[in-house]
Amino acid sequence: MNRSDQPFRLHNTLSGKVEPVRLIEPGHLRFYSCGPTVYSTAHIGNFRSFLTADLIVRTAEAIGWDVKYVTNVTDVGHLTEDDAADAGGQDRMAKALESEGKRFANVYDLARHYTDSLISDWHRLNLKEPFVRPRATEHIMQQIQAVEKLVASGVAYETEKGIYFSVPSFPRYGQLSGNVSAETLEQSVRDVVQDEGKRDPRDFALWKKDPGHLMQWHSPWGWGFPGWHIECSVMSATYLGEQIDIHAGGEDLIFPHHECEIAQAESLTGKPFARHWVHTRFLQVEGEKMSKSKGNYFTVPDLVAPESEGGRGIDPVALRLALISGQYRKPYNFTFDTLKASMKHVDRLRSAHTIALKADSGSEDEGEDRLGEKLESLYDDMLGAMLDDLNTPAAIASAIEGAKLIQATGDSMSAASARSALAFIDRTDGLLGIPHGIPGDRSEADTPNDDLGKVVEELLAQREAARKARDFEAADTLRAEIEALGVDVMDSPTGSTWKRKSTV
Ligand code: AMP
Ligand code: ZN
Repeated sequence: MNRSDQPFRLHNTLSGKVEPVRLIEPGHLRFYSCGPTVYSTAHIGNFRSFLTADLIVRTAEAIGWDVKYVTNVTDVGHLTEDDAADAGGQDRMAKALESEGKRFANVYDLARHYTDSLISDWHRLNLKEPFVRPRATEHIMQQIQAVEKLVASGVAYETEKGIYFSVPSFPRYGQLSGNVSAETLEQSVRDVVQDEGKRDPRDFALWKKDPGHLMQWHSPWGWGFPGWHIECSVMSATYLGEQIDIHAGGEDLIFPHHECEIAQAESLTGKPFARHWVHTRFLQVEGEKMSKSKGNYFTVPDLVAPESEGGRGIDPVALRLALISGQYRKPYNFTFDTLKASMKHVDRLRSAHTIALKADSGSEDEGEDRLGEKLESLYDDMLGAMLDDLNTPAAIASAIEGAKLIQATGDSMSAASARSALAFIDRTDGLLGIPHGIPGDRSEADTPNDDLGKVVEELLAQREAARKARDFEAADTLRAEIEALGVDVMDSPTGSTWKRKSTV
């Protein structure tokens, strides 16, 4: 089948259906995905949601769309009791500073630290860089202007404690989450900051007056800070315009965060905000909710740092594969067994890559390319699965099937087949983000096909052959040669991998 005829279908929380993504401007995807609050190291559950966004970008690019992808960093205004639309509690950033105070000079340092660790983990898991990663604190002026506009148009009002969005002014409130029943209404007002001036208990804060807040800005209403919901609407509009194609996040964001975003954004512009709302189901670990107290709470460094540094030494590529091996919309249970299976898959892809590279450099005969035809059809299936609501289990199965075919053909394949095999592996990497050569950082994992990557893989293949032939002297010499190129070689029962030596 020619996939150019197949629409890119995703589940839309707004309609409750899997439907084709209808672009505002043909060929151009405007996509906003909610990023984390940088008060701690993001955990692998957060990354499940970020990976969904990454796969949307990769799939859209694979069908030739020009993608403008924005994902933010929340560094103010996200409070601890955020399941209520008008959230209460403490600012998560301030609370973190209280418990970690001695490590950081101030709350901005804390934000910088966790933003840096987010980006480093982002690269380790080979997530695509967004067009821009805006920080809420760098867009305060735009947020104040948006709130002023809402007040001027009569859908927001001032009280002693803040500026509130008037929910009754927006009859479609509840359309995303279906949160219109008495029970859910009760939940949405639970924990609300006691404010006698509120006109309706459902109204939520756009701006909180608080001259005592750790992060505060001067506004037409005095010192204070923005509400969490207005931040994303404003950052999305700043970089993508008033209307976007897809807005994504984890399932907990449907209500209240995204519900409130729609109300604000559509009241500001009078136009529909996002056409498609995509939500990722929460990740569970070994069948349970991830929690620090249960000891099943993992960050990327917890899993991928070397054992000598307190980690588990897991290959980040295998971790990525494990995290995408369940479809985003189904409950997903992360287990160490899945991780082991993912490691085997990654090994298989790497071995297929080594075989194809060797054949590419060794075979002079152009020859037949029946392998290429089969791989073409498998890539087509892989893309078809991704276009079908990001069906990652089916897409991964096609990738592995292709790797098996390459392995079965062996390194005596024709030059034409070797090129087809390399192209298949590259396209698999492009679509699923599974780099085939190298564990480690993005800087390393991103460049398996650069000159160094090719030379190292070739030498590794020669060393493997020497070891098989029990010529250990030659194997040692080859190892020294490889290390002299500035890389470390790691041997394991499943084969050898390599990474560039750390420069820090
Ligand atoms: P937060 O830092 O809490 O704003 O979360 C950042 C993103 O991660 C949001 O899109 C959340 O919905 C998402 N998220 C949080 N926990 C999980 C989880 N266990 N599984 C999947 N996504 C999650
Ligand atoms: Zn958001």
